[in-house]
Amino acid sequence: MTDLNIIAATDTPLPALPFTGRHLIGGDWVDSDDGATFERHSPAHGTLVSRSAQGGQAETDAAIAAARAAFDAGVWSRISGKDRATMLLRVADLIEANVDEIAVWETLESGKPISQSRGEVGGAADLWRYAASLARTLKGDSHNTLGEDMLGVILKEPIGVVSIITPWNFPFWILSQKLPFALAAGCTCVIKPSEMTPTTTVRMGELLVEAGLPAGVVNIVLGHGLPVGARLSDHPEVDMVTFTGSTAVGKTISASAAGTLKKVALELGGKNPQVIFPDADLDGAADAVTFGVYFNAGECCNSSSRILVHEDIAEAFVEKVVALSRRVAFGDPMDPRTQVGAIVTPEHNAKIDGYVRQAEAAGAKICLGGGALTVPGMDGQFYQPTVVAGVTPDMPIARDEVFGPVLSVLTFRTLDEALAIVNGATYGLSAGIWSDNMHTCLDFARRAQAGTIWTNTWMDGFPEMTFGGMKQSGQGREIGSYGLEEFLEIKTLAMRIGKTRA
Ligand code: NAD
Repeated sequence: MTDLNIIAATDTPLPALPFTGRHLIGGDWVDSDDGATFERHSPAHGTLVSRSAQGGQAETDAAIAAARAAFDAGVWSRISGKDRATMLLRVADLIEANVDEIAVWETLESGKPISQSRGEVGGAADLWRYAASLARTLKGDSHNTLGEDMLGVILKEPIGVVSIITPWNFPFWILSQKLPFALAAGCTCVIKPSEMTPTTTVRMGELLVEAGLPAGVVNIVLGHGLPVGARLSDHPEVDMVTFTGSTAVGKTISASAAGTLKKVALELGGKNPQVIFPDADLDGAADAVTFGVYFNAGECCNSSSRILVHEDIAEAFVEKVVALSRRVAFGDPMDPRTQVGAIVTPEHNAKIDGYVRQAEAAGAKICLGGGALTVPGMDGQFYQPTVVAGVTPDMPIARDEVFGPVLSVLTFRTLDEALAIVNGATYGLSAGIWSDNMHTCLDFARRAQAGTIWTNTWMDGFPEMTFGGMKQSGQGREIGSYGLEEFLEIKTLAMRIGKTRA
């Protein structure tokens, strides 16, 4: 552990703690009827960060009723695209004006480095700007070849009331992958953030109120999956649920939503491979692998938690990755130099370690790390940068989402063999290919079962480029123009011109 790059506790001043979070229902900030609250402690510092109202069925039903009333009144669903865009741009400005302050809450509740939180919150503003551009260009279709006396028009209308349920790993960013697109479409919403990271969603609500969004258009209920998330999924007055989180909870939500046949969009887990051929830019690939596995401490749906390296270069490539891993700065997330912060809970730290121990017992080789990390002066939980070689496709570490800073290294000889391993996973979120041969890259890109394929790069994303998973990584797409389409219903108008025929 001594040759790792560890950033000890700094004395960065923190805001006044704890933050008090309330529900936003019909334009009012309210406590729960029974006064119940829940707390979140910083996973890095151990200190109490927030105390939030804990919603139950009454608060959830009230929020859905407020969203329904706002939708039906047309205060948002029937205004012009121009007016919706103006509001979304105002929110983007407010996010940008508050990046540093919101980023601190994101870091304190999730444990991620402050530099990354700033990037995420600032980047979220761009998602709002992009969604504003879609609000003005949203259009349907027409058919003027149906016969002289017929005109057909296809309208795209907001789907209605949308439940938005988000996870703890990118709370502000993931909310911004959904909310501005739902609003651009003209929907009204009820949001439930993760119980581990409620505060930045409350801050978003405060910005929406400040921007002048009409009451009831966006509502927030704080609390746990049961009962709040479950009620948001099965309530008959909700028209769509958009969820990001684990595959297990995604399946529960699908089942709850089936009772009313509401639309369900799911962004779920991933087990994302990068496949490395000997003719690739190996330094570039090693950099990308290192970034891909340690970004957000590996607590990332797109984490490249397994790599497939061609047998001929495997040993040398692992050495490169191990050398780079030693330089990655782990430690106090409030220090701007830190690249990897804390692990979300002690239970999750133990789960990560369980995967590593299991792989070791099955014959894999721990090339670096492989245990909890002690950061001087910090009271939270951290995990060492870990590289595990000699992993085989049947091991749980190669198949499951480990969700930690742990890289599994597998080997292959041919593209067909690599594709069999890649497509053998139950997940299909993203995959990468590294080769100087474009035929190899394109062959892989066409045959790999994943919603996103990166070629000689990893984790590049743009508001314009849609995102989503195949197989058990989800259904539906977010961001890009396809992200807007998810929140639209299609209506067909068949119109006769002139008198009805006798
Ligand atoms: P989680 O599934 O435990 O929780 C996500 C949300 O669902 C939380 O708000 C939680 O309170 C709520 N929830 C829990 N039980 C519920 C129920 N029965 N009904 C309705 N809602 C319920 O996920 P998490 O641990 O917060 O996040 C990590 C997971 O999210 C990982 O699997 C990760 O891969 C996935 N994720 C996916 C993407 C993507 O875009 N594909 C992005 C980020 C995270």
